[in-house]
Amino acid sequence: MKAEIIAVGTELLLGQVVNTNATFLSQELADLGIEVYYHTVVGDNPQRLEQLLVEAEERSDLIVLCGGLGPTDDDLTKDTVAAHIHHSLVQDEQALARLHDFFKFSKRSMTENNLRQTLMIEDGIPIQNPTGLAVGTLITKEDTTYLLLPGPPNELNPMFQQNVRPLLAARFPQAEQLISRVLRFYGIGESQLVTDLKELIDRQTNPTIAPYAKPNEVTLRLTAKVADEGLGQQLLDELEAKVMAKVGTYFYGYGDENSLVKVTVDALKKYGKTVTAAESLTAGLFQSTLGDITGVSEVFKGGFVTYSAETKAHFLGIDVKLLEKEGTISEACAIAMAERARIVADADYAVSFTGVAGPDELEGKPAGTVWIGFAEKGQSTIAVLQHFNRDRRSIRKSAVMKGLDLILR
Ligand code: ATP
Ligand code: MG
Repeated sequence: MKAEIIAVGTELLLGQVVNTNATFLSQELADLGIEVYYHTVVGDNPQRLEQLLVEAEERSDLIVLCGGLGPTDDDLTKDTVAAHIHHSLVQDEQALARLHDFFKFSKRSMTENNLRQTLMIEDGIPIQNPTGLAVGTLITKEDTTYLLLPGPPNELNPMFQQNVRPLLAARFPQAEQLISRVLRFYGIGESQLVTDLKELIDRQTNPTIAPYAKPNEVTLRLTAKVADEGLGQQLLDELEAKVMAKVGTYFYGYGDENSLVKVTVDALKKYGKTVTAAESLTAGLFQSTLGDITGVSEVFKGGFVTYSAETKAHFLGIDVKLLEKEGTISEACAIAMAERARIVADADYAVSFTGVAGPDELEGKPAGTVWIGFAEKGQSTIAVLQHFNRDRRSIRKSAVMKGLDLILR
């Protein structure tokens, strides 16, 4: 079973858009036990796409195409594939009904070319699009299966997960399946993690260990290739125990979706605790990060952005003399911000951020100097000093992550 991915779009060749669809599709296909051998990108050009299809069907059983299902003239993927396999395009009634509903609801007028989005390849299986208008197609001709999906990731991802996965799983059942588990770590860099686990990584063949560094955190994907799910889980349990024995103190959660903020919000919900924040250099980024999580209103009431000394005094009631004496980038200020925020918002926990986002220094302190305060009802408030490096954006992001970590631990 060999698959390949063809991304269609001149904007990809020009470097204006990163081909994240290939990454996503490769991961999903690997998860289905389908091996991907090639990624290619081709412009919005029917001749070159046709030429690529000829090559691709020589070497692949499954060809996944993304992009070019839209309403405009440069969206040629459907026409080209249909012509290539000598099928015509037909209206998909369900997609057509959705298109009419969409224009009725949004009170916009529909144009003729919108109808193109509801066409699918004759004799194929339509793939409905929960977040967009273009319908996809899965079609097998002779020994080759073609899957056509739209370009926008916010359409392609849900279509694949909801509507394509079950079809592919049924069509290409696996003798051996890949069972994987993602472990997430905060507070340790990738190079340190890999060094600590070197022996284990070198020795493992099945399951394998793949480290993956993201800004401010590292994930490890453990993957077992087995015939039986139960055996896979058992092998992963054993490997996980070995990993945890070495780097378990940095572990905070499982799974691709469970970011540090998600895990923190889940923990707050679990224990029925609320949180607030007072933010200086992060200017609301911490609270905005919380806001990314659905259902956060259960644990987050609101908070403060106090960028200047005046607002620190005015919104939070911090003594101006304390700020003058200690400076705003100080342990005392971080503690006062967290303590006051917690009381004013009447929350169980409060986090505060005060520091230098840079690039210039402030109050004689270099960029990256950040005090993070943490207040908890009934406990004494603390503040930790951090020295983050790199640019303004990373410094503020790193501060937010450390704030989440303080709540979680
Ligand atoms: P639309 O109906 O929006 O025109 P489409 O299926 O015709 O959808 P394209 O026109 O090829 O898709 O691309 C639309 C947008 O989707 C691109 O401008 C780009 O932002 C995004 N996109 C397309 N291909 C990719 C890709 N391979 N990876 C990430 N994003 C992509
Ligand atoms: Mg388009």
